[in-house]
Amino acid sequence: MRIVVEELPEAGLELAFGPTDRWAVDAARQGLDGEVLELAGTLRVRRLGPGVQVTGRARAAVAQRCVRCLREVRVVVDGPVSLWYEASPEHAPDQAALTADALDVGFLEGGDLDLGVVLMEFFALEGPTVVRCADPLVEVLEEGPCELATVDPEPAMDPRFAILKDLDLDG
Ligand SMILES: [Zn+2]
Repeated sequence: MRIVVEELPEAGLELAFGPTDRWAVDAARQGLDGEVLELAGTLRVRRLGPGVQVTGRARAAVAQRCVRCLREVRVVVDGPVSLWYEASPEHAPDQAALTADALDVGFLEGGDLDLGVVLMEFFALEGPTVVRCADPLVEVLEEGPCELATVDPEPAMDPRFAILKDLDLDG
């Protein structure tokens, strides 16, 4: 969903999206790293001085797994969108001066604004970095404590080393 900034009407553009909008579903899946179960929202895109302001609201629920107990959970992000895009970066975003505020500023690619990228960035910023049952954005689907899942204590031997077992070192 590319917006040509030059062609934006004075009053801006308002766009509602839902589970049938492929670009928005892709954005939620990439931003929250899970299969999309619910999706709804509205974005308002407006030219403001040298940049573009994106406001509105977005809600998505995706299927995820708790990293601790490995049970399936739902991650739900629901909140106001307020992002700002500038025509050209004054400094590269990967420089040391990067602050939390700077993370909310994106840059336009050749006068275009890709709303799929905007929405993906919103979900990536708002979603949990690590999914655990106790996280406020996580809805647990099954009752029961979040206990560390048992993992195989003896990982499979690296096949490159397996041959060493068969070597008769005493000749
Ligand atoms: Zn858990």
